[in-house]
Amino acid sequence: MSLDFESGYFFDLKMVCGGYAYYVTHTSYKTFTSTGREVRYPAPVNVRNFSEAAHFFGQHLHIIQAEEDYHNWLYKKGWAIVPENMVKSIMPQWLKSAECVKAATQIYTDVEIVSPSALKHYTGRMRKRHVFERDKNTCLACGAAEEDGVKLTMHHVRPFSRGGETTTHNLVTLCESCNERLGTEEVTELYEKAGLHFSYDHSIIAGRLTRKVRNKAIELSDNLMQTRCEIW
Ligand SMILES: [Zn+2]
Repeated sequence: MSLDFESGYFFDLKMVCGGYAYYVTHTSYKTFTSTGREVRYPAPVNVRNFSEAAHFFGQHLHIIQAEEDYHNWLYKKGWAIVPENMVKSIMPQWLKSAECVKAATQIYTDVEIVSPSALKHYTGRMRKRHVFERDKNTCLACGAAEEDGVKLTMHHVRPFSRGGETTTHNLVTLCESCNERLGTEEVTELYEKAGLHFSYDHSIIAGRLTRKVRNKAIELSDNLMQTRCEIW
């Protein structure tokens, strides 16, 4: 595939649910809100890298160079690459910035589409029990177990104060003293210890992960954001 533009916007348009669709796009940091969350906005990518990635993952890549291509893609959905001036002229509403939370998948999510419980600091009893069970009722940092007489606590790997979600994908079990010791230090190895680190978005990788694909996905999924869009 030969493309006559080097820089453009990448979008992965997903299914409509509850009357709206959402898309994943590459983003840049804009600012922090007073609550510590990042505000991010769509940023151009290197078109060649994304066409290679599309080929690598066996994804069809829509090239939008006319309004007709745009409408065709809205119908078919999936991956698209659009030259910068084209986005600005026919689809400027796709360039809005959004306040985000960040999950273990390394993907930022627009707070407008995350579940309200992910935005609360404290977690419910059911979710807490689920996380403790997943982590076999032991501290993932020092290995101490509840039966040794330590008190187990919930810990946000990406700190809540820096936009981390309150979901099972960002919460791990730590004993009280490890939790205190780590404070707001972000120790990403904890995701791996909880078996969370490679739970990447299925639209980016389908099927079994090889090491090569996994590394490519890490490279590709860094700085991605999912946000909602109004099409109809
Ligand atoms: Zn511990």
